[in-house]
Amino acid sequence: MMQGLMQHHPLLISGLLTHAAREHGKVEIVSRTVEGPIHRTTWAGIAERAARVAHALRRLGVEPGERVATLAWNGYRHLELFFGVSGAGIVLHTANPRLFPEQIEYMLTHAEDRVLFFDVTFAPLVASLATRLTHVHTYVALCAREDLPDAPIPNLVAYEDLLAPESPSIDWPALDETAASSLCYTSGTTGHPKGVLYSHRSTLLHAMSCGMVDGMGVSALESILVCTPMFHVNGWGTPYTAAMTGAKLVLPGAHLDGASLYSLLRAEAVTLTLGVPTVWLGLMAYVAREGLKPRDELRLRRVLVGGSAAPPALVLEFERVFGARVLHAWGMTETSPLGTTCTPRAEHDGADLEARVALQASQGRPPYGVEFRITADDGRVLPRDGASPGHLLIRGHWVAAAYFGSDAGPILDADGFFDTGDIATISDNGYLYITDRAKDVIKSGGEWISSIDLENAALGHPGVAEAAAIGVHHPTWQERPLLVVVAKPGAALTAEALTSYLTGRVAKWWLPDAIEFVAELPHTATGKLQKMKLREQFRDYRLPGT
Ligand code: ADP
Repeated sequence: MMQGLMQHHPLLISGLLTHAAREHGKVEIVSRTVEGPIHRTTWAGIAERAARVAHALRRLGVEPGERVATLAWNGYRHLELFFGVSGAGIVLHTANPRLFPEQIEYMLTHAEDRVLFFDVTFAPLVASLATRLTHVHTYVALCAREDLPDAPIPNLVAYEDLLAPESPSIDWPALDETAASSLCYTSGTTGHPKGVLYSHRSTLLHAMSCGMVDGMGVSALESILVCTPMFHVNGWGTPYTAAMTGAKLVLPGAHLDGASLYSLLRAEAVTLTLGVPTVWLGLMAYVAREGLKPRDELRLRRVLVGGSAAPPALVLEFERVFGARVLHAWGMTETSPLGTTCTPRAEHDGADLEARVALQASQGRPPYGVEFRITADDGRVLPRDGASPGHLLIRGHWVAAAYFGSDAGPILDADGFFDTGDIATISDNGYLYITDRAKDVIKSGGEWISSIDLENAALGHPGVAEAAAIGVHHPTWQERPLLVVVAKPGAALTAEALTSYLTGRVAKWWLPDAIEFVAELPHTATGKLQKMKLREQFRDYRLPGT
């Protein structure tokens, strides 16, 4: 074989940071701190302190390939760790502090983390776990010495004290690009959380893809409010994409309520934001309550919605109230996460609002580097006809090949595809439509009812704040849909009114057999509907007529 005669540089996370510092050094990184005030730094500032992080970890004796953990909100210190830890060849394990303490203990033990960096808000949690975390030798509170928490935590240092003696410059090690860079655990709704171990190469290829116009379309003009926690699949890769493109980052800290987000959107002239639907429902409710005029006050142009399905009602509301486009995206921890984004193709050129909103109900299409397949229960590959739902399989450059330290065995099929656990259709022009998670599908008389479709239809009713459809036992049909609804404050909504609204909007045999109103619905640690808990809650529910 004749080799090409081009330069070869490994794709490394440190390279992203040096690029951002050199070309976009003055671009701001704005954080709402856990202490309260807004903090401002720049990509150059992040690079200097990331270098100090790398030196400090070396001084602490952490070896390349070892893991260090964070329990932290979105903020500049967490961003420094994203680059400083991985840049040094150490693996950044971003633990999700919203999980149960037993799950957190399980993950920190399983990952054998050597150092634990934590926001002071989590001091009580860390103190309660510390005696059992035998691998952790140093605890670092992300604060200055005067803010150190008064909690029984051994070998505790303040982050600022750790960084102070170190040099702000560094020659980043020339790692192999396939070296591990970060570790995220799935939230483990069934069984133990599973670790997904990203590499420098997968992270950079993912970031490149995100930056592209038909991905997230990120440019140096962007000011990005990251409402996705940095412990949820690396903040959907946004820290890396922003460094690559020179975008400004706005990191909201612990507060994702409507008022806190709105003030950042306005003050920081945010153009692009991303997060799960629950966050946006909160923002919408705040805007409506306060009678605000986001169209006049904000520069927001695009909202990336993922993690669970973006309901058409939300897409429409962003268009009408904010003058902003929703960018619907699909992904999971195992896919870094971006697998699809819903961007138009030539055939959609000139589409009106209604057609655009209809298109946005789709999770979109894959970029180069990601390939999908849908299969029947027997493994047969199903046609791309937009009508045959099947198991969604994926393979690509930023898709997991195995779980970290798992004896669960191979997770890929003979063709190298990973089963996502989702059920989807794919249209003839390549658009993915997730109908359900396999375990959430409502199986009625051998046919499948999409809980997502039912929920989306219900959310179109102006009196519905949130809705969840689950299958409950039925003696004849095996399962029939029960719709559990949170009504908007002040809405006089009845089951009859909602059923007649849904009639004609979904197939007749999909209409829920019953509708129950509740004050709130259970959510997971990443803000998604917790169907399993809901199914437990309604396990003995008797549908009318049974
Ligand atoms: P967890 O939900 O367990 O925290 P992930 O964040 O990895 O873990 O979740 C991935 C799952 O979230 C996907 O398999 C899919 O079921 C769901 N999901 C993500 N994005 C969307 C979307 N746009 N529409 C519908 N479901 C989605």
